[in-house]
Amino acid sequence: MATRVTFIGAGNMAGAIIGGMIEKGFSPDAITATSPSDEFLAPLRERLGIATGTDNNAAIEQADVVVLAVKPQIMHDVCSDLREAVQRRRPLIISVAAGLPAETIDRWLGGKLPVVRCMPNTPSLVGAGASGLYASPAVDDAQRKLATELMEAVGLVEWVEDEALLDAVTAVSGSAPAYFFLMFEAMEEAGVALGLPADTARRLAMQTAYGAASMAMQSDRGPAELKRNVMSPGGTTERAIQSMEDAGMRRIVQDAMKACAARAAEMA
Ligand code: NAD
Repeated sequence: MATRVTFIGAGNMAGAIIGGMIEKGFSPDAITATSPSDEFLAPLRERLGIATGTDNNAAIEQADVVVLAVKPQIMHDVCSDLREAVQRRRPLIISVAAGLPAETIDRWLGGKLPVVRCMPNTPSLVGAGASGLYASPAVDDAQRKLATELMEAVGLVEWVEDEALLDAVTAVSGSAPAYFFLMFEAMEEAGVALGLPADTARRLAMQTAYGAASMAMQSDRGPAELKRNVMSPGGTTERAIQSMEDAGMRRIVQDAMKACAARAAEMA
């Protein structure tokens, strides 16, 4: 029997994970998504062929996995309403909500449940996400494997064994798409200052980031060596990298990521 997965919430994140699961061969018949309004459900039903509903309790009646994909602000109400049905069924719970500890979700659902907390990022929406996962003590190995499979449908999965490390994951990947977008903005502006049309500079910068990431991921060399390989002595790249180092690029990145992790810890 296929593992039955119910998504509570049918927005961007749920839609991305469901789309990825189906692309990877997961049967749409085994997937249900809920939302109070059909506006979110109709596209998923029509495009992906999954079951949909507006009754959260009915939707988890048969579920082996419940993915909580609603906004953090309404999670308490959603969990309180699901408590009885969840305690009866005891499915694996996966929460993708930012900033809510696994223990809080577990308490809101009545306690002693296997809960996986996931910190995804927005490139999950195009199947190129990076997620950090943490499992509460009640999660067994088979459930860990299942959570890995589900989240790998939208990209890379890395487990952390200490939940506090999800704050570091937030700094390294959760918030990080924005760091690269800032870099694209800066490179486009600098390209324009050097005389290029803005859209040409933008396309070149984005393709170069994509190429550098692909190259680094396919190589068994570390980033320091890859960087050195582009820098010939006295050449153009060396001049650029020296300018960045002189301006304190590493410190800027470290300070930003420390601030990000500290804010994530404050919010948890
Ligand atoms: P969204 O607004 O696109 O989707 C939220 C969904 O919840 C909607 O379908 C809405 O109809 C539904 N909903 C509202 N009330 C509900 C209820 N009572 N019962 C069932 N469904 C209900 O939001 P999103 O961007 O998909 O975010 C969902 C979660 O994912 C959030 O907790 C967010 O922190 C987390 N997250 C999202 C991203 C991202 O890239 N979008 C990244 C990291 C984490």
